[in-house]
Amino acid sequence: MIKKLSIVLLYFIFSQTLFAQANNYLRDTSLGNNKLILTFKYNIGNIKTLAIERNGLVKYIYDIKNGVLPKTKTISHYRHKGVKAFRIGQFNKNYLRIVIESYSKNKKNYSINGKILTIYLNASSKMVERNNYSSKKQHTRKNSHAKKKHKINHGKKTIIIDPGHGGRDVGAIGKGIYEKTLTLEISKRLRRELQKRGYKVFMTRTYDKYLSLKERTEYANARNGELFISIHANASAKGKPKQKYEGFEVFYLSLKNSDRVRKRRAYYKGKYYYSVSAYKKMISSWKIAKSRKLARGIRSKILTNVRKRYKLNDKGVKSSDFWVLLGSTMPAVLIETGYLTHNRELRRLRSKRYQERFVKGIADGVDAYYK
Ligand SMILES: [Zn+2]
Repeated sequence: MIKKLSIVLLYFIFSQTLFAQANNYLRDTSLGNNKLILTFKYNIGNIKTLAIERNGLVKYIYDIKNGVLPKTKTISHYRHKGVKAFRIGQFNKNYLRIVIESYSKNKKNYSINGKILTIYLNASSKMVERNNYSSKKQHTRKNSHAKKKHKINHGKKTIIIDPGHGGRDVGAIGKGIYEKTLTLEISKRLRRELQKRGYKVFMTRTYDKYLSLKERTEYANARNGELFISIHANASAKGKPKQKYEGFEVFYLSLKNSDRVRKRRAYYKGKYYYSVSAYKKMISSWKIAKSRKLARGIRSKILTNVRKRYKLNDKGVKSSDFWVLLGSTMPAVLIETGYLTHNRELRRLRSKRYQERFVKGIADGVDAYYK
């Protein structure tokens, strides 16, 4: 039996001229017997799913390509044994996101039949529709209680570390040493340091694997990271004197590029950097301010830590609109740890002692950010 979900969807009258036909509007949402049924305007195309398990709670994410929620409003006031939370929202311009937090694992999650997406919920429990105001209030109270409890037990801040490059994308090369190898090594060390300090850490990759920039930020977003730290190493441009360029720099997200970034982008000829115009609209000034704060803290703490023992060339804090920074929904920085093409810097960068000081600096910067 299919019951109508008591959703308050304020269908705004969109002018069709403003939106392309590709916009696949969510037309209807209903509850069946342990099924959530979503009907769209057009046939459903690409759908991406992800399940993240944490402390017995499984978060199922369904991203529907071209999906459009006419108006993001609270969509559900219902209870289902085993389902903790259910959300539908416009994840970004291109994807409608459905999130179901469940205490039970489902083997078969969903099926698509033309315009209809069916998500299967735990088969053993019954869904209860909740649609009046008092039950809504009750639900909210219950939810906030659960949230509080969650915070006490697992209130760790989640940091995403992104080791630059990987797989067929080796990155910069210095004396036969690949950037991808070094970034992974430093990232793992940083992970240990952050975990020691009580942070929850995810890495976009933990071995030599190719990942697109989009995959990196999508990974980070799906894990609800609070901060995104991308680790890279530099190389002097072709034809430039190699021993002239050394030092580290920290980039933060901005819509304005510093001159050097513009030059570099030209140098890479669009190999690593994508068109970003569509994403520019999504960046809030909040995110930029936070990213800048993080970048400044990290830079200053790296200097403090590393300069206790080494002479270090500080290339400062810069802004850029690298895709890897742009695509994440959290404050993001990109750290160029040093030049692989510089003999002394390469030697240092590969040493455990130098790496330890460097990652302590980054971790101190993260601590400072939260203070
Ligand atoms: Zn790089």
